[in-house]
Amino acid sequence: MTRTQAEKRVAELRRALNRHNRLYYVEARPEITDHEYDALYKELRVIEEQFPGLVTPDSPTRRVGDEPLKEFRNVRHLVPMMSLDNTYDFDELREFDGRARKLLPGEPIEYVLEPKVDGVSISLRYENGAFTLGATRGDGTTGDDITANLRTIRSLPLSLALAPSPSPSPSPSPSPSPPPLLEVRGEAYLPVEGFKKLNAQREKDGEELFANPRNACAGSLKQLDSRIVAARPLSAVFYAVGACEGIEFAEQAEVLEALKAFGLPTPQFWRRCRDIEEVIAAAGELQKLEATLPYEIDGAVVKVNSLAQWKKLGTTAKAPRFAIAYKYSHEQARTKLKAITVQVGRTGTLTPVAELEPVFLAGSTISRATLHNEEEIRRKDIRVGDTVIIEKAGEVIPAVVAVVPEERPRGAKPFDLARHVAGKCPACGGPIRRDPEFVAWRCENIACPMQLKRTILHYASRRAMDIENLGEVLVNQLVDQGLVKDVADLYGLAAEPLAALERMAEKSAANVVEAVAASKGRELWRLINGLGILHVGEGAARKLAAQFRDLDALAAESVEGLQQARDVGPVMAESVHDFFRNPRNRSVIEKLRKAGVNFKTGPESEAPAAGGPLAGKTVVVTGTLKNYSREGIKDRLHEAGATVTDSVSKKTDYLVVGADAGSKLDKAKKLGVTILDEAALEKMLAG
Ligand code: AMP
Ligand code: ZN
Repeated sequence: MTRTQAEKRVAELRRALNRHNRLYYVEARPEITDHEYDALYKELRVIEEQFPGLVTPDSPTRRVGDEPLKEFRNVRHLVPMMSLDNTYDFDELREFDGRARKLLPGEPIEYVLEPKVDGVSISLRYENGAFTLGATRGDGTTGDDITANLRTIRSLPLSLALAPSPSPSPSPSPSPSPPPLLEVRGEAYLPVEGFKKLNAQREKDGEELFANPRNACAGSLKQLDSRIVAARPLSAVFYAVGACEGIEFAEQAEVLEALKAFGLPTPQFWRRCRDIEEVIAAAGELQKLEATLPYEIDGAVVKVNSLAQWKKLGTTAKAPRFAIAYKYSHEQARTKLKAITVQVGRTGTLTPVAELEPVFLAGSTISRATLHNEEEIRRKDIRVGDTVIIEKAGEVIPAVVAVVPEERPRGAKPFDLARHVAGKCPACGGPIRRDPEFVAWRCENIACPMQLKRTILHYASRRAMDIENLGEVLVNQLVDQGLVKDVADLYGLAAEPLAALERMAEKSAANVVEAVAASKGRELWRLINGLGILHVGEGAARKLAAQFRDLDALAAESVEGLQQARDVGPVMAESVHDFFRNPRNRSVIEKLRKAGVNFKTGPESEAPAAGGPLAGKTVVVTGTLKNYSREGIKDRLHEAGATVTDSVSKKTDYLVVGADAGSKLDKAKKLGVTILDEAALEKMLAG
């Protein structure tokens, strides 16, 4: 294929892929099968690999994410992104209409009602039809440049549709050529289904759960590594134009239609209303549809339809006068926020909790409610002393949803978690650190008593070291009395001091000692899970144990090496690496070793055969072998006494090479590592 031919084919493929992508994600009426789509995609990727000069940032192949960024650049919005005033009942909506009429005497006012999507506000810039820049709302004037992350969202077109694809109800063509500049606004969201799946997976992996789809979406978009974002099924919906050159819009309804014609996803439900009573009827209609929408909504947005009237109505400092949010009310109650306490979880997460003046809500008396995290508190501007609205919206745990600003006591200060806890963990006084991925603060002290209690309970749990008789009451006493300062101290417990503890007797103390001792021989994955490494739950622990087969090999691995292991992403790799670099954790591990805790995976959970032909050798395998599966060869090498790791380093003794070996072979050659083919390996194994 010549370059000219490639250029032509690449353009065709991109056009086709963009079109099918839109038909699938935006219009929900695909014309080709997934298989056919994949074939087109693959063809494009192959040509782009062959002619790297033809790769453009808006190519459909770029949706998989890119190298991680160091930080986000700031973006100044061409037009500020404003918030909206809220109303909670129909009378307040009528008042809004009344105010607008006063400002527009004698003019009829039409409205558009749209869902208020509970996502994360984003602004996208298209230049000559190509997606060039995407940003968060930030403070309304300046946001973060999250272009790389947004590019991974499949429903978001990388280039605008010119002539809209014919659809059952034909939309007007926006223009024969794309506008030189178009800044559109909308919400990124994680579909409710995707959120459930994501949290289910995280629960399995022992990772912290996201509070709600909005938080999960916000956390995802804050990732510096767009490859992680690419793996989350985010979507987006658009409802406004910020800045535009080349098109004059006269109405909001027209804007929504044009956005759709450009191939951007727009709300499935919206209504043009001739007066406020029609708005009220439409709001009821929307609420009935709530459960069928792919995103969560927290109400409706009512906008004056005529953009000429927008100009006349203008804005206040904070919000426009031509639009208002109508928020749905769930079962709610008002009460006073007496204090905010901060609790410490096993992974050290500091979770703010609202301490409330007790109030009756949906069948029970509530005195505490979750505040999720600092960001949620800031977003809702919740302050100690405020009168707050709490809600039980299907969830078991009540949440603070809003404050009543008029009832704020004078001098109430914005909540600042770090200041609130004086920069220290409330349980142990240790240092705290911000973890942007989870929108959380964490206690960094692994000896934190609160964390320690949870760490020990986790270590002893069924899915970890499975130590019977080590329950919460006992663990609390062990930690509070200073008998146990880390999990390794469990192995030093004697029956006598144990028997002296409350609710313990000689017999029960002896049982505990016995159960602890029995845990020394547990499988490696249980130990890895039990250590409570952030982002490593049972599933991940099993995979790590199967691949590294030795805690020391795992501990010694580089981030790069870890990332080469199966199913280990960059976040987990970093976390595992950091864990084993922490001097405190290392000392715990040394204590566990001395206590005789098993560190190896093996058919018999024993050390590699000391007398085997490969005793003491570190071996890496690459490529496909004829006579062994990946797991099979590892078992075989292990039996022969070798330690098997997944990445080549100076410590590697042998690289076993099968068919289609990749970069490991190059690296081994560079480092002068001995390379063995399968036949040579068999000879060595035979002694
Ligand atoms: P608030 O943050 O509560 O003041 O509400 C304003 C925000 O609602 C905007 O910044 C948007 O991010 C969001 N929003 C959600 N759906 C819409 C919509 N249909 N029209 C305008 N804003 C919306
Ligand atoms: Zn602490």
